[in-house]
Amino acid sequence: MSKTTHFTELGLVNTREMFKKAFADGYAIPAYNFNNMEQLQAIIMGCIESRSPVILQVSKGARQYANQTLLKYMAMGALEIIKESGSSIPVALHLDHGDSFELCKSCIETGFSSVMIDGSAWSFDENIVLTKKVVEYAHQHNVTVEGELGVLAGIEDEVSHEKSHYTKPEEVEEFVDKTGVDSLAISIGTSHGAYKFKLKPGESVPPLRFDILKEVEKKLPGFPIVLHGASSVLQEYVQIINQYGGNLEGAVGVPEDQLRRAAKSAVCKINIDSDGRLVVTAIIRKCFAEDPKNFDPRKYLGPAREDLKKLIIHKNRTVLGSADRY
Ligand SMILES: [Zn+2]
Repeated sequence: MSKTTHFTELGLVNTREMFKKAFADGYAIPAYNFNNMEQLQAIIMGCIESRSPVILQVSKGARQYANQTLLKYMAMGALEIIKESGSSIPVALHLDHGDSFELCKSCIETGFSSVMIDGSAWSFDENIVLTKKVVEYAHQHNVTVEGELGVLAGIEDEVSHEKSHYTKPEEVEEFVDKTGVDSLAISIGTSHGAYKFKLKPGESVPPLRFDILKEVEKKLPGFPIVLHGASSVLQEYVQIINQYGGNLEGAVGVPEDQLRRAAKSAVCKINIDSDGRLVVTAIIRKCFAEDPKNFDPRKYLGPAREDLKKLIIHKNRTVLGSADRY
């Protein structure tokens, strides 16, 4: 049995102060997923350079892929690098799409400062019972909790839904009151993965449901809202992938100007994962195609990391509005 670690021992913060500041100043905190070293380096260097707070996200799949102990020490290493650089950006370590009380508890015991319990597949009442149980445990350790109401379409690791169900604004107040959650992920038209919308020729991406967001804000004044599945599926990288042997025809995402608009509202956290995956895949494909003799992973993972860092800086500056805050 390994010893338990509290997040403060690692130099992490929970999301409470981050969200308060983001809400007051009209921006959103970026939440980036990581599973490997190059991704984490790109996120950290990008956030140091753009002086942005950051939420490092680990999914259940990432824990299985990279080993939970290694992920914890990687996050610790990232914090050391931030300190050495003289930067004071705050960092939270967050469980993405926790699906059980046990998983959330295990993450809290290994030093996570924030967890998501995703009870959106359950009934409203069951979701409340599960979320409340996680909140009660998490708050004993000063760990913040994100809940979810409504269902996002698309695929992300083990999370997969054919159809989306928009969040019902009339449910949010009761859910937040009864569970005590610190933030709430809602469904207003974003979606997981790289195929967010099935468009017919000539059709454009449907706008996010800002009317639902507005209703939610009215019911929960001052309360932090979270958007999942908020990649824009940048077409320049989709094109590179397709040009160099990939096949991602019809991949589309949420336009960046819509996300910027959301970030100025009660939306305090925006999750971006697919855009990073696309950048890394595009650059690696390009490296292989341009230099078939390349068999040094540093010579394709390195360039991929460089472009991923540029993406992070771009997102922080022009989409989240989180740059130059620290
Ligand atoms: Zn998600």
